[in-house]
Amino acid sequence: KFSSAHRLGFGSANPTSKIPLGLKRKGLRIVVTGGAGFVGSHLVDRLIARGDSVIVVDNFFTGRKQNVMHHFGNPNFELIRHDVVEPLLLEVDQIYHLACPASPVHYKFNPVKTIISFILLQNLITGLAKRVGARFLLTSTSEVYGDPLQHPQKETYWGNVNPIGVRSCYDEGKRTAETLTMDYHRGAGVEVRIARIFNTYGPRMCIDDGRVVSNFVAQAIRKEPLTVYGDGKQTRSFQYVSDLVEGLMRLMEGEHIGPFNLGNPGEFTMLELAEVVQETIDPNAKIEFRPNTEDDPHKRKPDISRAKELLGWEPKVSLRKGLPLMVSDFRQRIFGDHKEGSN
Ligand code: NAD
Ligand code: UDP
Repeated sequence: KFSSAHRLGFGSANPTSKIPLGLKRKGLRIVVTGGAGFVGSHLVDRLIARGDSVIVVDNFFTGRKQNVMHHFGNPNFELIRHDVVEPLLLEVDQIYHLACPASPVHYKFNPVKTIISFILLQNLITGLAKRVGARFLLTSTSEVYGDPLQHPQKETYWGNVNPIGVRSCYDEGKRTAETLTMDYHRGAGVEVRIARIFNTYGPRMCIDDGRVVSNFVAQAIRKEPLTVYGDGKQTRSFQYVSDLVEGLMRLMEGEHIGPFNLGNPGEFTMLELAEVVQETIDPNAKIEFRPNTEDDPHKRKPDISRAKELLGWEPKVSLRKGLPLMVSDFRQRIFGDHKEGSN
């Protein structure tokens, strides 16, 4: 809960539209759901460094206290263990909504809970955004394009999603979340922003969550073979986390609702990714082919013209520059930190 000092200290309920431009970036009260996770914790670092007051709301399904514990003791930081499907009343100016199982392994673990949590987004929007007039940013995903028939994908593409497959709880769930977000905007005047995030990597990614970058990096460090699913010719476009955080903040502060693709257009096959991991960590790492998962999209690459034009944003960190930046964090957690997975 906010103290009265907090309540008084940070301006009106929706100051981004009311305070002078020069003050816009100072002293906002911001909720980051999923803020103990990979992307969320990097976002929290930037917001705290900017001088904002941040409340992280997380149920620690995949997040870790270790990702944010460097802020413990900072009066501008609070951490609440809470599941976002339950109502939550807070007085804030902005909500970055990231809470969600994000890797295929995690969102398939309890698919019914996954899809229901998207529908229950209404609790978050009505309890936080609508009630106090806060701006709500939804982190959607490139998965809304499914197995795309357009390449690269523009925001105007409606996608090619299997509604009854094993990935549908996530893909259709995020599509539903976009729908709800826009319906609250149109119907109740809630200020919203929508980001469609493409595959992102960096330090603090969950080790062993099954995503390809974390798998390959951890495998190379452990001297295990890199597991390439299928023929390895499927493509993804990999974005370094600091680029994503910059894009999310520009989107939140800007005047455009979106949706905006936030991703790095550099496109790699999984075999090419494996080569970059070999070059970066262990040239002797072997490759082992495994059967691919069901409904795996064949290719994915963002068209980011809209974000370039309207947000003045584009990624700065190439895969070859970004990959080495996560290696020491992974090494330390694999070999040095026996608290991995504990909360
Ligand atoms: P992550 O798993 O590291 O972080 C998600 C966080 O949400 C975790 O801290 C987890 O404990 C928390 N969480 C999950 N369900 C919750 C619930 N019901 N209530 C409260 N907290 C809950 O994942 P990430 O990669 O940081 O992803 C963050 C967001 O970005 C997600 O919404 C994801 O869908 C989206 N996204 C990520 C990527 C990517 O490549 N990383 C790509 C597209 C979209
Ligand atoms: N993949 C792989 N080896 C792994 C994990 C994943 O080849 O150890 C492939 C997977 O089949 C998919 C791509 O990598 O084609 C990206 O998978 P990830 O789970 O990282 O992201 P998403 O499918 O959600 O884009």
